[in-house]
Amino acid sequence: MNTKPAMLAIHGGAGTILRQTTSLETEQAYLQALRDILRAGEVLLAQGATALDVVQACVCLLEENERFNAGRGAVYTAAATHELDASIMEGHTRRAGAVAGLRTTRNPVRAARAVMEFSGHVMLIGPAADAFAMAQGLEQVAPDWFGTPQRLAQLRRVQGEGGAAILDHDGAQCPAPLDERQKFGTVGAVALDAHGRLAAATSTGGMTNKKPGRVGDSPILGAGCYADDTVAISCTGTGEAFMRSVAAHEVSAQMRYLGRSLEAACEDVVGERLPAVGGQGGLIAVSHKGELCLPFNTEGMYRGWVRLGEAAQARIFR
Ligand code: ASP
Repeated sequence: MNTKPAMLAIHGGAGTILRQTTSLETEQAYLQALRDILRAGEVLLAQGATALDVVQACVCLLEENERFNAGRGAVYTAAATHELDASIMEGHTRRAGAVAGLRTTRNPVRAARAVMEFSGHVMLIGPAADAFAMAQGLEQVAPDWFGTPQRLAQLRRVQGEGGAAILDHDGAQCPAPLDERQKFGTVGAVALDAHGRLAAATSTGGMTNKKPGRVGDSPILGAGCYADDTVAISCTGTGEAFMRSVAAHEVSAQMRYLGRSLEAACEDVVGERLPAVGGQGGLIAVSHKGELCLPFNTEGMYRGWVRLGEAAQARIFR
């Protein structure tokens, strides 16, 4: 019988701090949003929900919150469209599902779960993935439903500056605690349930001004999302570097093959391996022993965690 406490961690992206221009109200609003989502997840955990259901539910709530770059509020591609990526993985079965380049499915993480459960495959992309999600009864929306005026203004600004595809949305009109021009906005969740099962999920709009068709690490299992019997991980950051580092799987591999602690493995991946290939960002991880680690190599990361029966904690800065 499992005696470990059930727990949950979430993230809403990592980046550069704008503390000097952020109002306390704005900062509190982000923290409150994170705590509300943690509480919703905690209720599910307390009711005996599986880690898989809990990470899906939390990522869904993050997708619905337009402060975060996933689902509604997703960033724009260079063609002023949205292409959404998501993945989900269950540790003890290694079952997984992923989608890339969605344009009309309201909650990409639900599509990833449907791929896992009902497609016989692990990953579907583009219009066929939206069609599959629709056939599974998942809500479809007009492609422009995901956008907001702020995000569009930010795309125009990035394009006006001749910017590369590394910027998130413009916080100039309503400064967020992390500089929206230098923030990675993926969302994710990891959980350990009362039966000791692990799961992870990640969802993103990708990077502002990305080339149409570009897929980052978020839907790539092992790169931006991974779960096995040892650990569950969800990442956010410069996707190309996370893919080249196979970042999420690397944490698990170091724990299993090198016998490293969760903290040592996370430190190596986020502090050494990612920076070695220009990788900026962070990850959240929960181990089968009930340890949590939420490292990042940027100045801040929207993040929160809760152990069943304890108060939910949310942080932005170091
Ligand atoms: N990792 C995501 C991507 O490359 C971006 C992010 O974390 O914001 O698509």
